Amino acid sequence: MRRPEQGRLRRTKIVCTIGPASESDEMVERLIRAGMDCARLNFSHGDLDRHAKVISAVRKASARLERQTAIMQDLPGPKIRVGRLKKELDLREGSVVTLVGEGEGEGDVIPIGYRGLGRYVSPGSSIYLADGTIRLKVLKAGEEGISCRCVTGGHLLSGKGVNVPRLKQGFRAFTEQDERFLEFGMENGVDLVAVSFVRSHLDVMQVRDFTRKKGRDPVIVAKIEKKEAVDDLKSIVRVSDMVMVARGDLGVENPVEKIPMMQKAIISDCNAEGVPVITATQILESMVKNPTPTRAEVTDIANAILDGTDALMLSEETAVGAFPVECVEVLHRVSVTTEERMVGRQPAPAASEDVKDSLSEAAYMLSRSVGAGFLLSLTNSLTMATRLSKFRPRIPIIAFTQDERQSRKLNVVWGVYPTVVDGGDGITELMARCIRNLRSQWPVGKGEKLVMVCDDVRLSGQSGELLFAVELKGAGSVPRPRRSRSSPSGR
Ligand code: PGA
Ligand code: MN
Repeated sequence: MRRPEQGRLRRTKIVCTIGPASESDEMVERLIRAGMDCARLNFSHGDLDRHAKVISAVRKASARLERQTAIMQDLPGPKIRVGRLKKELDLREGSVVTLVGEGEGEGDVIPIGYRGLGRYVSPGSSIYLADGTIRLKVLKAGEEGISCRCVTGGHLLSGKGVNVPRLKQGFRAFTEQDERFLEFGMENGVDLVAVSFVRSHLDVMQVRDFTRKKGRDPVIVAKIEKKEAVDDLKSIVRVSDMVMVARGDLGVENPVEKIPMMQKAIISDCNAEGVPVITATQILESMVKNPTPTRAEVTDIANAILDGTDALMLSEETAVGAFPVECVEVLHRVSVTTEERMVGRQPAPAASEDVKDSLSEAAYMLSRSVGAGFLLSLTNSLTMATRLSKFRPRIPIIAFTQDERQSRKLNVVWGVYPTVVDGGDGITELMARCIRNLRSQWPVGKGEKLVMVCDDVRLSGQSGELLFAVELKGAGSVPRPRRSRSSPSGR
């Protein structure tokens, strides 16, 4: 795998939603060249054939460019939408409407395509329509329909989103439709799975059970977009591999002025636990139509990075916008410039009993005190590189794994550059191979110091962690690589 091509190194990762504006082979390749680290497939839109084509386009372009690109499947969850309305509706404050499961909307009857909703709301519950612009209060809820009074009126079109901030127990975030989609995702080898409208850690665990039963182990990303999720945040972070600040629905289900502090709290909890976090939605909204961003957008991006986000996610900007490549370029430039001002920071002290936590801290401290140029992690699990990233070191973290799938999963973690190496031959040979690989891909100077962490090293029946520091001798002293596996395709 090649090191990133850009002149200046970027640590913050870029996730791009692929859609009509970006799904061609040519556009996928251009996005990767510009810096896309992860392609997101939004399963709220598009059919499975189309997603399969995008997956294949991303894999092929990555192989051609000798770059790794992670693929994230975003499950729609119980995304409820207004069905077909005979006519557009003007809902007046004080009027009474009935939400029903199926059918065509007429008069004061609005279909929402979800028959059972009545079971999960009660009189007094709020229901929002059309991105939160219309607010209804439930008067009576039953199997046959939910009768509501309109508290804030507005204009309603077919297909608009329905948000219910508080749902009773028993409502499933992981729907039957999601199960079918996830099955497809697992068969097509997606690397990450994002779960929408998570309410508690149980929703995340349900998805994990499902993938385990299928014998798969994708990175599970919990999308925080409901108030319930914010309330159960600590437990959700603990059971998730990654988290997304899904500001779109978060801002519908919560007063919009609360979003900035919610974003900071979510990111900070994730950072403390060493769980990577993605900041999403309206990142470069104005660039859906315009070739340049607003000052406010650029400032928001920089602030998300300073808050501690690992990755930034583009939605409509790359899916349907007029300037997908330009958006990635803007994210690249803003990230690089902002990161220059970030210093290695010291997260909460490692849990003293956790050897891996303490070791990653020791490795980071050592790299600083000896002035190392690179941190290397040599592991087949994802946790060591992620733990190193938590310190936001100034130097790159090169994560060597022997498994291509594991390697791709690390592509969304701040400051981590995953690389696949061949295994076998014992730990010292493997370490030497990693150093050779580093020298062939990165500008490694004479006398450069490296700090390396090896995870789960076997030693006469024991298993432990190894911390290794080395000052490299002249270029000639390390033999040329024996054809190390350098690209995802093995070329
Ligand atoms: P969505 O999730 O784009 O799937 O709705 C992100 C968000 O709500 O911000
Ligand atoms: Mn959402």
